[in-house]
Amino acid sequence: MKSLLFTRFFIFLPWILIVIIMLDVDTRRPATPISPRPYFSPYAVGRGGARLPLRRGGPAHGSEKRNQSRPQLQPEPQLPTIYAITPTYSRPVQKAELTRLANTFRQVAQLHWILVEDAAARSELVSRFLARAGLPSTHLHVPTPRRYKRPGLPRATEQRNAGLAWLRQRHQHQQRAQPGVLFFADDDNTYSLELFQEMRTTRKVSVWPVGLVGGRRYERPLVENGKVVGWYTGWRADRPFAIDMAGFAVSLQVILSNPKAVFKRRGSQPGMQESDFLKQITTVEELEPKANNCTKVLVWHTRTEKVNLANEPKYHLDTVKIEV
Ligand code: UDP
Ligand code: MN
Repeated sequence: MKSLLFTRFFIFLPWILIVIIMLDVDTRRPATPISPRPYFSPYAVGRGGARLPLRRGGPAHGSEKRNQSRPQLQPEPQLPTIYAITPTYSRPVQKAELTRLANTFRQVAQLHWILVEDAAARSELVSRFLARAGLPSTHLHVPTPRRYKRPGLPRATEQRNAGLAWLRQRHQHQQRAQPGVLFFADDDNTYSLELFQEMRTTRKVSVWPVGLVGGRRYERPLVENGKVVGWYTGWRADRPFAIDMAGFAVSLQVILSNPKAVFKRRGSQPGMQESDFLKQITTVEELEPKANNCTKVLVWHTRTEKVNLANEPKYHLDTVKIEV
């Protein structure tokens, strides 16, 4: 009898220990946070004050939990699509620039990338890159005429216009424009994720400061009582809109209702591209200041140093062909 009890005790002991250990491990596991606290909040304030994710279906921890507690029947308000027009041209740093840009854009919900190559045809490098970028995109190309490829002349005029033409064509048959916002994203600038939250609420034309531009640490629209009243700039302060290409966004509605508004080659002085374009679609009084009344720099006009390829071989090339 005694030995039977002993045997049973030793048979059950390991199982009891396993159950105790499992219970202990489970209670020690940290609870999933209800709201994630990353360095940058991935939740944007959408129209109507609804909390909307910066990137839908993104890897934010705890997002599934949040969805479970939210009533499923309530449809999410439609996020305005952000259309980013990026002119780009072939050079040694091109793929590096596009990689950084795609890494930023991938964090942004409902963004459509319009990449316009300054080339006679779509290149294989960019085509392959876009196919793997994991972003809704449109790949266009138009070459800059040789006579305009000179220092001192505006760059990427034809490419931005090609982006505008695509946007207008795509939406031409719609009675009412889908909510959308357009901005011009050069491939070498640096964009904070907060910038996309700011521009998404653009009603007509919105503006904000740009860092590292115009020979200064930053340029910005001067704001009084919520209105733009002038420009803080170190260069040609007489420009009607003394603002860099990276400093404004335009609603899709405004682009569609001004079908002739384009970037001009003829009659445009250096540095006047932005003013010439904005003059066609808005007035200074109408501008909507973003980034806390234009007091925060959320985009930087960074420029990449020309790479040193002095040691590239002319003969005895590598045995494999490698895309850089
Ligand atoms: N760009 C282009 N073709 C050119 C030169 C520039 O498509 O011949 C593009 C470039 O990739 C960038 C934008 O036009 O997206 C502005 O050019 P860049 O950054 O050289 O101008 P900056 O920094 O002087 O404003
Ligand atoms: Mn640049």
